[in-house]
Parts: sequence; C-alpha cells; structure tokens
Amino acid sequence: VSELPECLEQLVRTLTRLPGIGRRSAQRIAFHLARSSPDEVRRVADAVAVLPEKLGPCEVCGNLTDESPCRVCSDPRRDPTLICVVEQPENLAAIERSGSYRGLYHVLGGSISPLRSVGPEDLRMAELGRRLEQGDVREVILATNPTVEGEATALYVARQVVPEDVRVTRPATGLPVGGDLDYIDKSTLSRAFETRHDLR
Ligand SMILES: [Zn+2]
Repeated sequence: VSELPECLEQLVRTLTRLPGIGRRSAQRIAFHLARSSPDEVRRVADAVAVLPEKLGPCEVCGNLTDESPCRVCSDPRRDPTLICVVEQPENLAAIERSGSYRGLYHVLGGSISPLRSVGPEDLRMAELGRRLEQGDVREVILATNPTVEGEATALYVARQVVPEDVRVTRPATGLPVGGDLDYIDKSTLSRAFETRHDLR
C-alpha cells in the first residue's frame, strides 16, 4: 500500500506511464507540482490538455502539426525531389535539428513488427506510394530506426513501395545498430546522411 495521499499516488502512476519516467522521477515531479502555486499547476495542465485538439497528422507527410499541410511540406525552399522516410514525428524533429537535410519527409507512424502485430497496412505505406506515383521524387532516403524492425521496414519500402526508377538509399555511417535516431548526435546524423548508400 502506498503511503501517498490517493490523488498524489494517482498522479505518480499516470506519470510513470510516460516514456523515460520511472517511479522516482514521477514522485519528484508530483511533489514539485504539489508544492507549486495553483496558477503554475494550471499552466502545466493546460499545456497538456490542448494537445489533442491542436495537433494532428499532416495530410501530406503524416508529421505531427497544428496546421495541415505542415510547415515542412508548405516550405517552397525544400527540395521536392527528395523524400526522407521516418517512423515517427520525433525522428523528423531530430533530423531537422541536425540541419543536414533540405528535402521533404514521410512519417510512417511506426515500423513493421510481427511481434506487436503491426503490418504494412497499419502504417502510412499507401500514402507514400501515392506521393511517389506523382513522379516528382527522384530519391527516397529510408531513415527508419537502426533496429531489426526498422531495417525490415526499410527493406519492405524499398521492395514494395518505391517505383523502379526512383533511387532508394539508407543512411549508413555511424548509426548504432539497435539505437534510436533521437539519441544520435547532430554530427553523426549529418555524416550518416552524407554517406548514405543505395539499397537496391
Ligand atoms: Zn507535412
């Protein structure tokens, strides 16, 4: 039985469901909020509460956005002949932070995983296929995570989704196997993009 008041315990449990937050961090945040002024607590609550109504997927690329098409898709300075395929919006954000890429993106919404029963039809594969059919794209860069599932997803896209006449590449150098794109530093990410290799 927890020694915390019920509402505090409830908050701790809710926080531990968030990524990267264990019981100790959750308690530290919960006690901090309990000590904060009502105004401060409301600022935190409001910032979280508006997310579902303000954010949604970009109708073009699947990026998380408050306006559709998203800022990347509607930026005329981006190179429309390049599409970088990633698993999640946070991967797109990590690549943008590295500043090493000026093309467009396509966010799949995950990776193919038989274990979690996620198949190609659960991801934004058909949308990618339709974008490629329009014929402007010359190269697809498959920047899915360097995990077993990410590799399998990259191969599926290369074999089943990208038309024959479009180049397919994958960032190579320096991406640690089993790692996650978000934890790779800027210079490693830039180098990986510069030294991408053909996948077929
Ligand atoms: Zn977009």
